[in-house]
Amino acid sequence: MNLSILYRGPLSSCNYACDYCPFAKHTETPDELAHDRACLEKFVDWMGSRTADSSGVLFTPWGEALVRKWYQSALATLTRMPNVTKGAIQTNLSCKLDWVEECDKTKLALWCTFHPSETTRDRFLAKCRELLERGVRFSVGVVGLKEHLSEIEALRRELPADVYLWVNAFKREPDYYSPEMVENLTRVDPLFPFNNQYHASRGESCRTGASVISVDGDGTVRRCHFIKEPIGNIYSPDFEECLRERPCTNDTCGCHIGYVHLDRLKLYEVFGSGVLERIPLGYR
Ligand code: SF4
Ligand code: SF4
Repeated sequence: MNLSILYRGPLSSCNYACDYCPFAKHTETPDELAHDRACLEKFVDWMGSRTADSSGVLFTPWGEALVRKWYQSALATLTRMPNVTKGAIQTNLSCKLDWVEECDKTKLALWCTFHPSETTRDRFLAKCRELLERGVRFSVGVVGLKEHLSEIEALRRELPADVYLWVNAFKREPDYYSPEMVENLTRVDPLFPFNNQYHASRGESCRTGASVISVDGDGTVRRCHFIKEPIGNIYSPDFEECLRERPCTNDTCGCHIGYVHLDRLKLYEVFGSGVLERIPLGYR
């Protein structure tokens, strides 16, 4: 079985304080962190038991997970499993990077978000250079806030041209962007127009629930992060019975980790093997 698994455990804390984010500077108790670790280790053990599969994993934590050693270890263990094709994670890239040497770097990928209010461009770019030196594949991205436009453009200039820089549209405010701003952001990220809209999805064919699933710390399976109804549990012996094609039941889909699986957008042709870590074909 070839599955793409988006894992999101109970972790919900972050060392950064972005003012639009509910996890900003949120801390957790030692018990809560221990619970997150136990859930993650159980998931990694389960992946290890799926020897006949060939699956990719993307960690999409609430908050920042790579400052926790158990996520670093999980990626090292997962990428060394023969049945795992990819171990990827969303991160603010604030952690040390020596742990990547424990991974099979041919299967490791990072989805790195730059937060201009929380770190400097120089510091962030130094981490990107370290990833390049260590031979780790990664995408870089940023939320397209108007006040950060010059930082975003500078980041694009200073990154190697073959490192993909995505821009997530700030869609909470309708008509947030002027046409000129859309043009500027599309120069930075040619795929920005895909992100700067909510894609009509009700009744549409989407790979989630069949070959792509969302899994939480208890093992509960949902088709995606945006439809809350559980469809199964990976720790049930009959788990695979829940995997089947079904049309989307939401009106729209507005996040890359969702709409990239919407068949009519044909984005698998754009991203190839880089769907999970958000690296289009043609980039490093
Ligand atoms: S780095 Fe990410 S999780 Fe942390 S506060 Fe900023 S947006 Fe939220
Ligand atoms: S289109 Fe989006 S919301 Fe609908 S099933 Fe797919 S990922 Fe989920």
